[in-house]
Amino acid sequence: MPIYTPPVPGRRGRQYKAQILTDKIVALKAELAVHQEKCRHPERHRTYKYRSNTGNYDPTQDFYWTEYHCELCLRQWTTNDQRNVVGRKM
Ligand SMILES: [Zn+2]
Repeated sequence: MPIYTPPVPGRRGRQYKAQILTDKIVALKAELAVHQEKCRHPERHRTYKYRSNTGNYDPTQDFYWTEYHCELCLRQWTTNDQRNVVGRKM
């Protein structure tokens, strides 16, 4: 069982506060991930945008992907192609 260390003024106090804030961010990110995992990103609340990296010297290096965004849970994700796209164009 760790011993509670009260915050001390000065550099160590700031470090202590930074650690508390960092721990909160980690916990909130985990909570958000669980929330987004439950969302089904319905088509009518989903937007997408075609993205590409083309004009390479070697055209076989050109690639295309689709960027999605869900308005309900704010999740953003990408797929490697531009086929089977569902949602509204951004
Ligand atoms: Zn969603």
